[in-house]
Amino acid sequence: MKTLTCDVCKGIISAPVSGRTYFHLAHRELCEPCHDKLSMQIRPVVRTKIPFTYDWYDHYVQESIEKAVQKGKFDVK
Ligand SMILES: [Zn+2]
Repeated sequence: MKTLTCDVCKGIISAPVSGRTYFHLAHRELCEPCHDKLSMQIRPVVRTKIPFTYDWYDHYVQESIEKAVQKGKFDVK
């Protein structure tokens, strides 16, 4: 069976199902817990961003993921 490795926590994603058990974002693979943490981390910023554009959003998501990849985690508890 195909397995994937989460780019952030390096956890093994067994039986990967796109959009359910893993998420492909900004050319990275994220496991579900890391995807949840990404959402939690960016939500307060996204919510208050004015003006909101999808270009900005895509860039912000990508930047947040790259930082987390370097650290091995997201900055949320
Ligand atoms: Zn992960």
